[in-house]
Amino acid sequence: MNRDEFIEMIRAAGVVGEGGAGFPAHVKYAGTADTVIANGCECEPLLHTDRSHMERNARDIAQALAELRRAVGAGKGIFALKKKQIGVIDKVREACREFDLEMALLDDFYPAGDEQILVRELTGRSVPALGIPLQVGCIVANVGTLVSVNAALGGKPVTHKTLTVTGDVRKPGMVRAPVGTSMDECLAAAGGTLTKDPVFILGGPMMGRLVEDEAALKKEYVAKVDGGLIALPRGHYLHHNATQKVEKMRRRAAAACIQCRFCSDLCPRMLIGQPFETHRVMRVFGADAEMESESGTLAHLCSGCGVCEHYACPMRLSPRRVNQAVKKALADKKISYEGSREINERRTQPREYRKIPLARLAARLDITRYMRLETPDLGTLTPSVTRVPLGRHIGAPAKPVVNVGQKVRCGECIGEIPKKSLGARVHAGMDGVVVSVDDAVTIRGEKYA
Ligand code: SF4
Ligand code: SF4
Repeated sequence: MNRDEFIEMIRAAGVVGEGGAGFPAHVKYAGTADTVIANGCECEPLLHTDRSHMERNARDIAQALAELRRAVGAGKGIFALKKKQIGVIDKVREACREFDLEMALLDDFYPAGDEQILVRELTGRSVPALGIPLQVGCIVANVGTLVSVNAALGGKPVTHKTLTVTGDVRKPGMVRAPVGTSMDECLAAAGGTLTKDPVFILGGPMMGRLVEDEAALKKEYVAKVDGGLIALPRGHYLHHNATQKVEKMRRRAAAACIQCRFCSDLCPRMLIGQPFETHRVMRVFGADAEMESESGTLAHLCSGCGVCEHYACPMRLSPRRVNQAVKKALADKKISYEGSREINERRTQPREYRKIPLARLAARLDITRYMRLETPDLGTLTPSVTRVPLGRHIGAPAKPVVNVGQKVRCGECIGEIPKKSLGARVHAGMDGVVVSVDDAVTIRGEKYA
């Protein structure tokens, strides 16, 4: 298989980055790199999705990484995971031996799974501000994405997703569900909640998205980028943090930010040498001057990892959420970051001593009680209806290519990439009949001979 055939098979299968970003893989893998990296360093506390992939598919992941290495002309392939993942290390080592890959074992710190941090850890290279790993000769692929790449090379499109369902649930575990399955059904597979009036996080506790209640959860559907569903009691620290209004955050920034700069000093982006000082954003935000000041535009450099607000800030302020709000306001006015993108190596010197241990982070997040929960395999769901999203990836939403009443089979393409656009194809996750087409394709399950 030559490089063009490799890229075409991934495009046809609708593979996107499954670590959360959802960037179309056929575009990401179109460059040339000297190093390709399989990222199994899941760093969000409570999530075990990557571990589950490595337990079940270590060989598939290694094979896909070796193919990617060949396709992009890289000399080196590294399979990265954490030292603590004892149960899967032997499987990964064996797969690496078979495909001539290096295995890298990382400490259990946050955010080890951020691809820019991982590139720095493994190669010593820092990605410039607002850049991507390809600029320093690297391509990083999440292990879940590589499972999908391997299937794509065998002609199978992305139809299912694996999720960790945990927190205040009766039976925490790993659920495999067709794309488009209601999150409510994933919760039911884990036995429902233990708490009467729960809230939910889609994704991990550090970077995930809050869903306010069970009614709202019923309207959430599994997308290719989803990897976790966490139930929490209403009023939990993470619920409280996620629901603070912007104006309250502004008043608190004005009244309580002591400009100690701990948020900047512990910021993982600053610690790989990028010119990012989030305390400066907090200063201008508190003064209601972020739209006029150059400091405000620094918010564009934030990855949203949450170290500043969940760990660093002694005043329990929310630099991450402030950055998100400022970034959105700037984007609305088309104001971009025009400052330096250079790496300053002096900033990286304290990096080793400022890595955030996961156990301490969990304590700050008030989730220690969930950290030891076992997450066994809860099987594959067979929902009666799926609502397959057309736009939950980076780029233009897929253009539906099916009509109401049409019969579709599992794996059939139901959404195409619009012409001349960045995007990803979308496929049916089960056999059935199309019952509606809007920003998603709803399929009622039905079996055909
Ligand atoms: S750590 Fe908190 S108090 Fe200190 S500068 Fe940052 S936001 Fe302000
Ligand atoms: S969320 Fe905070 S710590 Fe993370 S990149 Fe943004 S400013 Fe830095």
